Amino acid sequence: DVVVGVLAVQGDVREHIATIESLGGRAITVRRPAELAAVDGLIIPGGESTTIDKLTRTFGLAAPLRELIAGGLPVYGSCAGMIMLSDGIADPATDRSGNPQQTFGGLDMVVRRNAFGRQRESFETDLDFAELAATGSAAAGDPVRAVFIRAPWVEKVGEGVEVLAQVPAAGTPQAGPRNGFGDSAAGDGSGDGSGDGPGDGPGGATGGAGADLEPVARIVAVRSGNLLATSFHPEVTGERRVHELFIRMIRGEA
Ligand code: GLN
Repeated sequence: DVVVGVLAVQGDVREHIATIESLGGRAITVRRPAELAAVDGLIIPGGESTTIDKLTRTFGLAAPLRELIAGGLPVYGSCAGMIMLSDGIADPATDRSGNPQQTFGGLDMVVRRNAFGRQRESFETDLDFAELAATGSAAAGDPVRAVFIRAPWVEKVGEGVEVLAQVPAAGTPQAGPRNGFGDSAAGDGSGDGSGDGPGDGPGGATGGAGADLEPVARIVAVRSGNLLATSFHPEVTGERRVHELFIRMIRGEA
């Protein structure tokens, strides 16, 4: 059967391994370039994208990973993992020398980090995720209970990127007084709190400040070819259908 690697330099590695194993799959940790050869697919966990970036470059994993992704390796990224799979970041952190954080890329889209803002550093909501019906599991048609932890949203997608789930406008704290979130909704330039070096830099204009803006839905799950990404963390709620979908992608069944 398939071997699913979990990139294990930082983040919630164990939760992803447990989810894969609970589905009867084989999961192994990946910390060194040589270990990439053994995997049929790879999960990039949630955590801190600046740290994952820094460590994978230090360990010589970033370059081979970029090549494997471009070559069609199935990869699923949750949260920080979604950021690592994005071709662009709207508000990249910079290191002390002013260099912006890097990603592996592969998904033709732009994400915004920590996008749901201070009041919503962490929140849960139910999402429609139609693609999961294809997994054929008993719960296939049910909504996904999604947990967001300082999560990114997807701000722009290219043509080849399929939108799988969105937080509806009503649940999106983006538009000022109507939702009571004022101008602190996004892009406030706060540090990422991880104490690991690069901060978020000064906040940019994000559209979070406009009291006259209408709330809009925010994209939080996407697929493009062999790449799958979610802003949220199915691995922490016992939700297994996203991983089930990913395994099916690896097998070429979805
Ligand atoms: N805010 C983190 C980042 O920018 C992601 C948080 C997460 O993975 N839960 O990398």
